Amino acid sequence: MTRRLLLIGPPGAGKGTQAGRLTEHFRIPAISTGDIFRQNLRDETELGLKAKAFMDAGDNVPDEVTNDLVRDRLSQPDCAEGFLLDGYPRTTDQVRALDEFLAEKGVALDAVVELVADPDIVVERLKKRAVDQGRADDDENVVRHRLDVYAKQTAPLIDVYAERGMLTKVNGIGEIDEVTGRILDALSVRDLP
Ligand code: ADP
Repeated sequence: MTRRLLLIGPPGAGKGTQAGRLTEHFRIPAISTGDIFRQNLRDETELGLKAKAFMDAGDNVPDEVTNDLVRDRLSQPDCAEGFLLDGYPRTTDQVRALDEFLAEKGVALDAVVELVADPDIVVERLKKRAVDQGRADDDENVVRHRLDVYAKQTAPLIDVYAERGMLTKVNGIGEIDEVTGRILDALSVRDLP
């Protein structure tokens, strides 16, 4: 069965970890715009160069750049049977671009999962990740800014999807397996076993 899912939530909520679990469970590709940007930074591509200053500052990469990237990725054959988007859409313009893409293909999203996590907890998690993984944007000031950008630009999208009846909220605090279980339960309630 086709699955088209979005995972939304603040930085540090564990989206990447859960995306990895869900991709195995549903056998669909997980597409993380953050991971794609980081890979491009490492490879020093043109896209990486465009994204670098924004990422280092904890700002969103411009919509036009991100929308083109996602459109290309979702057009790959492995996405025909479904996909899980992690970290996209992040702005209302990205929602519009995604809606347009899906409409062109004549398909729709099945569900949007919000991973809910308290800001104090995510700041602690990201501080730990800064030490473990050395991500430049996990510096404490940049983290605070990313949370702010999330609150202003991305949190409003939760209401958009809630109004469409697509949203399911899941508590992101707990053991990794426990959270995966909650997501799968929430999706099965929505007839997505
Ligand atoms: P987090 O969710 O922890 O902030 P991500 O890996 O999703 O981490 O994103 C890291 C950075 O990549 C963001 O701060 C932003 O600069 C860029 N980025 C990722 N996804 C998007 C997007 N959909 N739109 C714009 N910028 C993005």
